[in-house]
Amino acid sequence: MATSINPFPSLGNSVTLSPLHDAHGRNVRYLRLSVTDRCNLHCLYCRSVEQRDFIPHENILRYEEMARVVRIVHGMGVRKVRLTGGEPFARKGCDDFLAMLHKRHDDLDLRLTTNATLLEPHIPLLRRVGVSVVNISLDSFDRATFARVTGHDLLPAVLAAVDGLLKAGLRVKINAVALRGVNDGQLDDFVHAARTLPVDVRFIEFMPMGSGTRWDERHFWPADQIRAGAERLVRLLPDDDGGDTSGPARMFRIVGGKGRLGFISPLSNHFCATCNRLRLTSDGNVRTCLFADKEYALRGMLRTPGLDDSHIARTISRACRLKPVGAELLAARQGAAVAAKHMVGIGG
Ligand code: SAM
Repeated sequence: MATSINPFPSLGNSVTLSPLHDAHGRNVRYLRLSVTDRCNLHCLYCRSVEQRDFIPHENILRYEEMARVVRIVHGMGVRKVRLTGGEPFARKGCDDFLAMLHKRHDDLDLRLTTNATLLEPHIPLLRRVGVSVVNISLDSFDRATFARVTGHDLLPAVLAAVDGLLKAGLRVKINAVALRGVNDGQLDDFVHAARTLPVDVRFIEFMPMGSGTRWDERHFWPADQIRAGAERLVRLLPDDDGGDTSGPARMFRIVGGKGRLGFISPLSNHFCATCNRLRLTSDGNVRTCLFADKEYALRGMLRTPGLDDSHIARTISRACRLKPVGAELLAARQGAAVAAKHMVGIGG
């Protein structure tokens, strides 16, 4: 159904935009915005230390260009925007960008996914701009394992940031990529964190992303096995909160504990039917599914003088209509990796 409010008053009444939806009946309400492909860590499941082929600076969208895309999709019904990367705070000016988005769209649910190694000084800003939940990628509470996974000995900085966020009254979700042979022997550390801290600790199944990320079926640790392991340590009660704050995770309250455990299982129990996401890569492409390399180029359009927003909106709308079902792509891969682009470029 077309919106009755024209989100582009400057274009007159001729432009009417439909909310974003796809051919499978899914409504797109959530934008993941990769602000940079640069990251100060080199996680073995994401981009290994040898890979240094960054997107050239001139091909990375400027903040104003990203803000314009946010304005357009906001007019098409998107109400949640997550900054991701690369590492968002590895790009200069990320603070000002967050503040700009908040000022222009105070109804946006602004979120952040970060490795938290650079986060601590930015916590007051996050509060000011109304970021209420921060997702932190943390794959081990053991310093040596953390260094092995990320290539850097920075666990203390992450733990200090978690502490700072909780003290500042922000919600924290800790996301751990489940890696057999790497962190599967540390389940009790994760359970301990979720029991003693008011945080969500969520395991993400290792996804077979391509581009030399050391994907290997032998590292796959399925969500059901993690949950069974956790249930040998604590009693879990289902605690889904209607989908919006838990996203694709199945959440469980720990009886007698402060936090929750969650499981995100893109492989063993996919959530494609309820996927409401759209991604904007740092080089300005719309990507509608993590597992499909089909992207729709916006950068050229954003940089064409005089091209009005309605053209960009139409491209985004068409991309959304053609949003694939990622589980079908995964099912067809026969054990191989999918997606040629680095996760740091896509935004996870
Ligand atoms: N630098 C930020 C961070 O560390 O959270 C944001 C970018 S990172 C690419 C976003 C998310 O992608 C992280 O939660 C990371 O754990 C996840 N990720 C990257 N590669 C993955 C893979 N192969 N399987 C599962 N999750 C992956």
